[in-house]
Amino acid sequence: MRVFKDKLALSAFLSDKSKVGFVPTMGALHNGHVSLIKLSVNQCQVTVCSIFVNPAQFNDKNDLLNYPRTTEKDLTLLEEAGCDVVFIPEVEEIYPPNLSMQNYDFGAIEKVMEGEHRPGHFNGMANVVQRLFDIVKPNLAFFGEKDFQQLCVVKQLVKLLDLPITIVPGAIIREDDGLAMSSRNMLLTSLERTQASGIYNTLLQIKNRSNTSNPQELLDFAVENLKKYPLIKPEYIQFAYADNLENLTVLDKSRSVMLFIAVKLGKVRLIDNMLIYE
Ligand code: AMP
Repeated sequence: MRVFKDKLALSAFLSDKSKVGFVPTMGALHNGHVSLIKLSVNQCQVTVCSIFVNPAQFNDKNDLLNYPRTTEKDLTLLEEAGCDVVFIPEVEEIYPPNLSMQNYDFGAIEKVMEGEHRPGHFNGMANVVQRLFDIVKPNLAFFGEKDFQQLCVVKQLVKLLDLPITIVPGAIIREDDGLAMSSRNMLLTSLERTQASGIYNTLLQIKNRSNTSNPQELLDFAVENLKKYPLIKPEYIQFAYADNLENLTVLDKSRSVMLFIAVKLGKVRLIDNMLIYE
C-alpha cells in the first residue's frame, strides 16, 4: 500500500491507472469505511482512500478539535482491506491560500435536515470533495448511506460539474445492537454508548409500524420511545422522500420514503436513517 501526502505525486502516480475507485474519509476508520473500501477493491483496478479531517465542513469548532484521529490503526485496517493507495494531505495541501472557496447551489436538498442544522456543512464538504476528485480523478467514488443527505449532495455536485464519475452508495454498517458505526461513537461515555442503541431501536419500531399510522402519529411515537433513553436529546426526526429529501405529511406509498434522525448524546452528535419502504 502506497501512502501519499503530496497531491502532485499522487496525481502522477494515478495518471496511467485505468479504473480508479475512491473512498474519501475523515479517518478514525471502522467497518463502515472498510465496507466501502471492499466495494471499491471488488470493482476497481486501484482503490484510493483519503484521510482528511476537513475543517471547512465543521460548523462547531469543538467538534473539529475533538474529532478522533487514529492514523496508525487506520493504515493497518486499510492494508488488511486491500486498499492500494492512501492520501493523507495537510490542510494547506487541500486549501492553499491562493484558492478561494466555491459557493454551490444544490437547491432544496441542502436546505433541510443536516443543511438546516449545520449551516455551511454541505458547502464545506462539497469544496473538499471537488478538490479531492480533481486530484484523484476517480472513475467510481464510494459514499455511505449512513450520510444519506451527503450522498445526495455529492450526486448533485457531480451533475452540476458534469464530472465523469459514478457515485456508488454503500449500505449502513451497524454494531451488534444496531448503532450505526461512526467515528464519533468512540467519544461516547459507556452510559451514553449503551443508550445510543435507542436510535436504531426507534427507527426500527417506526418501520415496523409504518403500515398502520399516519406520519405524525409515528413521529409522536418516536419521541415517546426516545424518552426511554434519557441521555438521547433528539435534534430532529422526520420522514422524507428518498429521491428529493422533501419532507412529507402523508405517507405516499408510491414513492420511496425514509426516516432521518439526528440526536445529541452528551457532547456527541449522531445521525442515522432507515428506508421505511421502497
Ligand atoms: P467519514 O469518515 O465519517 O467522513 O465517512 C467517510 C465515508 O464513510 C462516508 O461516505 C460515510 O457515509 C461512510 N460511512 C461512515 N459510517 C458508515 C457506516 N456505518 N456504514 C457505511 N458507511 C459509512
